[in-house]
Amino acid sequence: MSPAPGLRALVDAHCHLNSGRLGAPVDEVVAEARAVGVETFVLAGVAPEEWRDQRALAARYPGAVFPVFGLHPQWIAEVDEAAVADGLAALERELAGAAPPVALGETGLDGLTPARKASLALQEGAFREHLRLSARYDTPIVLHLLKATGRALEVLREVGVPPAGGVVHSFGGAPEVALAYVKMGLHVSFCGSLTYPQSRRLVAAAAALPLDRVLIETDTPDQAPHPHRGEVNRPALLPLVLHALAEARGEPVAHVAEATAANARRLYRLPG
Ligand SMILES: [Zn+2]
Repeated sequence: MSPAPGLRALVDAHCHLNSGRLGAPVDEVVAEARAVGVETFVLAGVAPEEWRDQRALAARYPGAVFPVFGLHPQWIAEVDEAAVADGLAALERELAGAAPPVALGETGLDGLTPARKASLALQEGAFREHLRLSARYDTPIVLHLLKATGRALEVLREVGVPPAGGVVHSFGGAPEVALAYVKMGLHVSFCGSLTYPQSRRLVAAAAALPLDRVLIETDTPDQAPHPHRGEVNRPALLPLVLHALAEARGEPVAHVAEATAANARRLYRLPG
C-alpha cells in the first residue's frame, strides 16, 4: 500500500474554467483550487467556438488543464442542423489533429425544457456520431444525460460504449441506473448535488458503486455544493463533494481522494 496522499492532487473531472461566468480571473480561481489540493482540471466541451479558449487554458497551465471537445446537447438545442453538421466535422478534424482532446463531449440527451425536448432527434444524431468518433479515435466519452435516461441507455446499447470508456457526468439518478452505466463500462461522476440535503437517492447510488468507477467534479461555474448552493461554483469547492462521497460510502476521505484522482487519470489517460 502506498501512503495516502491526503487531499493533495485532486482532479476536478469536469469543469468549465473557460466560462465567462466565473466571476473572478481564472488565475485566481486556479490558485484558490491549488491551495486546497485540487491540481488537475478537465475542461468539458460545449460548443466549437469555445474549443480555442479551452486550448489556450491548457497551454497556460501545462500538465494541469486538459480540454475535452464536443457539442453539448443544450448547445444543439439552440442551433440548426447545419451548425451541428459543421461542428461534428470540426470535431473530427480536432481528433485527427496534432493535439487531440483527452475526451469527447459533452454529448448525450437533454430533455429538461420544452425547447430541448424539441431538439432531441438532432441531439441523438450528434450523440451517435460522438460515440462513433470516440470508437474510431479511441478517445473516452463524456456524457450529459438529463431527463432522457431510458432513451440514452437504448442508444448506448445500440451503438456501444467506446472501448476507451467514458463517464456520465453530474450523475443525478437512482442506484440501479448508476449500476447500469457501470455495467456498460462507464464511470459515474458526482458533483455538488451529492451534498444537498434530501439527496438520499444519490447518496445510495454513491454507496452502491465500485470505487474504481467513481469520479468527482464541480461542473464549475454551475452546481455549487452545499452550503454554497446558488453561488458561482469553483474547483476549490471540490473537497466538499469528496467529503460527501466519502461519507456516503463510509470510507476514509484520503482513500476516496486517492481513488477518484487515480480513476480520472486512468480514464482520461492523464500524465503522471
Ligand atoms: Zn458541464
